[in-house]
Amino acid sequence: MISIPTNPLSDGARAVVRRLTEKGFTALWAGGCVRDLIMGRAPKDFDVATSAVPDQVERLFPGAVTVGKSFGVVRVRVQTHEYEVATFRKDQAYRDGRHPEGVVFTDEQTDAQRRDFTVNALFLDPLTGAVRDYVGGQADLAARLIRAVGRPDDRFVEDHLRMMRAVRFAATLDFKLDPAMADAIRRHAPQIEKVSAERLQQELTRILLEAPQPGVAIELLQAVGLLPVILPEVSALRGQEQPTQFHPEGDVWTHTIMMLNAMRQPDLRLAYAVLLHDVGKPGTAKFVENRIRFDCHAGVGATLAEGILKRLRLPNDDIKAIAFCIGNHMRFMDVQRMRKATLCRLVGAPTFATELELHRLDCAASHGDMTNHAFLVAFQAARRAEPVLPKPWITGHDILSLGVTAGREIGRWKQMVYDAQLEGLVENREAALAWLRRELAAAGR
Ligand code: ATP
Ligand code: MG
Repeated sequence: MISIPTNPLSDGARAVVRRLTEKGFTALWAGGCVRDLIMGRAPKDFDVATSAVPDQVERLFPGAVTVGKSFGVVRVRVQTHEYEVATFRKDQAYRDGRHPEGVVFTDEQTDAQRRDFTVNALFLDPLTGAVRDYVGGQADLAARLIRAVGRPDDRFVEDHLRMMRAVRFAATLDFKLDPAMADAIRRHAPQIEKVSAERLQQELTRILLEAPQPGVAIELLQAVGLLPVILPEVSALRGQEQPTQFHPEGDVWTHTIMMLNAMRQPDLRLAYAVLLHDVGKPGTAKFVENRIRFDCHAGVGATLAEGILKRLRLPNDDIKAIAFCIGNHMRFMDVQRMRKATLCRLVGAPTFATELELHRLDCAASHGDMTNHAFLVAFQAARRAEPVLPKPWITGHDILSLGVTAGREIGRWKQMVYDAQLEGLVENREAALAWLRRELAAAGR
């Protein structure tokens, strides 16, 4: 028996089930919410599966919107929350490695068979707390395993995206892949190419942002053969040597994986900047005087990253920001030698927070020297503490040299010319002096 939380979201989901049940239909919570509840996590949404067909669901819930009648999905609203109510179904033949030709309405056992993984194929009756498990999902949850429902080869041929989903669930839940299923992914990995870039990117982004250890997840994508297909530029970091003096941790791949694992609640820009910050290294590596160098790898990497992210259909402003962070990342080594104006521009850039964190991770996952990071943090703090008012261009000394001698008079003129400066009546010190001379003459001095 599962204890059901009480909050507006789950109460609404229970009300949907109760209404359908009262009318004689079977209705159950299904999929991710059941998995999350058994794991003691709070589901972020609740899906209902039912024996009622879409027309019947629509009649029971005024204002219901059918989102895909042929797929049997109706969106139902209870107060402020929405729920997807889907008729128990079975998918017909898959056409394009992603979408079934249509669906046939069926019973709950058969509905469980069309779901991707056993831990996602559980049902829960929220009125009794009883779990209905037709696929061994509870045992796999306890063993922390992602296992395909049915024969993995068949399931990945039907829908190639499931390969990415398998890794995503393993990564975000911190589960292992069932070994037989991992073998099947290895066999079918090249087909991931046929999946739309948008859907691929969605899964990759969720892996990077939601996995507790995104580096481990990228290693898993590599281990099952998906990474060489979707991000060959990142796969190529494996075995790319670098100077041990700066990189005692190992090759560029190891360095990148360590950085990914060390991220703290990254946003999209940081995550992709970390993943791709050194993609310019393999192409620029050269031995000079027995030492390996990567001249211009940041700039080359920025250009490569732009191409990769366009291919993955990230939003344009994110692509620009990420490429900028990558192109700029080696400049952080020189911050202590920079002129103040250069530093101000660096710190004032809209991407600076991301860049600073990229730099911190870069150092933490290599030589560990945080001097430049500390310097920038201190510079930023000092700059924030600076007075918002600019320095006056005209001093009491200037006024005295123009012939005003009385202390109180000097104070008054100083105030007036400073006001002129603040109001923008004068553009610079020269203009301020001219203004002062004119005003003094007008006042008969
Ligand atoms: P989350 O929402 O946290 O990503 P979820 O399990 O709710 O996890 P959804 O993508 O919302 O995942 O899908 C809901 C349910 O629909 C899944 O639990 C699974 O049973 C089924 N499902 C989703 N996508 C597929 C697919 N490509 N193939 C088979 N079944 C799927
Ligand atoms: Mg969901």
